[in-house]
Amino acid sequence: MNKLILYNTLTKNLDQITRVGEHFTVYFCGPTVYNRAHIGNFRTYLVEDVLVRILKLEGYKPLVARNITDVDDKTIRDSQKAELSLSKFTERYTKLFHDDCSALNILSPDIEPCATEHIADQIKLIQTLIDNGTAYVSDGSVYFRVRAFQQYGQLSNISNRELQTQLVDSAGKRNLADEYDRDSVSDFVLWKARKPEDGEVFWDSPWGEGRPGWHIECSAMSMKYLGHTIDLHAGGMDLCFPHHENEIAQSEAATHEPFVRYWVHIAHLMVNGTKMSKSLGNMYSLEDISDAGFSPEALRYCLLSGHYRQPLNFTMNSLSAANNALKKLQTFSEKLPERKSHEKPEHWQFLGDAYQALLNDLNIPLCLGNIFKTISKISLKSDNIEIIAQEFGTLQYALGLQLKQRAELDIPDNIRSLAQTRWEAKLQKNYKLSDEIRLKLESDGWIIKDSASGYTITKR
Ligand code: AMP
Ligand code: ZN
Repeated sequence: MNKLILYNTLTKNLDQITRVGEHFTVYFCGPTVYNRAHIGNFRTYLVEDVLVRILKLEGYKPLVARNITDVDDKTIRDSQKAELSLSKFTERYTKLFHDDCSALNILSPDIEPCATEHIADQIKLIQTLIDNGTAYVSDGSVYFRVRAFQQYGQLSNISNRELQTQLVDSAGKRNLADEYDRDSVSDFVLWKARKPEDGEVFWDSPWGEGRPGWHIECSAMSMKYLGHTIDLHAGGMDLCFPHHENEIAQSEAATHEPFVRYWVHIAHLMVNGTKMSKSLGNMYSLEDISDAGFSPEALRYCLLSGHYRQPLNFTMNSLSAANNALKKLQTFSEKLPERKSHEKPEHWQFLGDAYQALLNDLNIPLCLGNIFKTISKISLKSDNIEIIAQEFGTLQYALGLQLKQRAELDIPDNIRSLAQTRWEAKLQKNYKLSDEIRLKLESDGWIIKDSASGYTITKR
């Protein structure tokens, strides 16, 4: 086993990853299925996917669970707007999510539990917390008593003093919302009493009719499938507080065992310096990417091209650059013979630096840079070509890159380059030229639409 190193948000260190059990247990916070997932969400799932691939290659034997949040304020609100039952509504978006994951070549998790199918497990966990005094009932809802958990705030670095001040200031206040910011630390909700707005979405519980809060599902389901201590837990950076902080509190308060050994958080995908999110309405879905003439493979490459701990700014130009880089890899891979062995090489001879970059805190940009550096200078000869094919194939698997050409999605190079010239003319306020090019493109059958981060090209 090679040495895999990852930045652990809990220890604030680059930790060497070790396996202690038969499997290396992994839990990823999955989608809230009230809308089509946007490409920001997919940045997180793609980084997680590369991580799983490396764990597999390195012999960690990962056992992966990724949940589906199919009941919360947003799913209830939007299912009512759509005049559908909660399950019909969430089924639609769960299916779309699965379709998008497979288009992006994201490996399926071993276990994919839904919140609504684990209500009894969540009730049981909440009852344990009430019984041991870390949770209490108030007006039919149940809250976690943050003061009862000494280590609260360790993951997201809320200092004890800051926490104490906030708790004193917020004494008597409780958070019924699932999402809130660091300035409003207070007792958070585990079970929400039924409200008229919930319509028919409710379950019986020892505290009356209601539904679980959002945070408890991940603790209950990860415990059920992966045990009290998970090896690795990951999600987007926004989940660090309060979601993951609350997961730790409620899990450890119930089991008195460490909840997670390694915490991994992925920085956000941005558009013009702002987080891409459903609520801000500045998002692209996979459909928008395909309408712009780009393949899911190009998007995968683009979203993986920045280091996962740095925010990544998405633009159509960056997608176009990713598409070009991918084409170069495609051209290279076409020169290689079919791989004889699908095993990871025992001793790397040509592309070892690229692979090593992945083991060193998942440095995908360095890995890609090293691949290009190497392939630009090696000549493919009969005595090395098979070794290179095996090494390149292993990297291709690790990054999940599918390098078959997709002619049907391709926009001709001359059209792409005209569209780019038009965009640059527009940025330089040369509207005469940009309008002329737009008309020329339209007469050739291509429509250009400008958007927040660039432009899209679609067929007329
Ligand atoms: P949600 O469906 O909102 O619960 O989010 C699903 C996953 O996507 C979580 O791990 C989030 O942290 C992550 N996520 C949400 N927005 C972004 C973004 N702009 N960039 C990267 N990851 C994100
Ligand atoms: Zn979660």
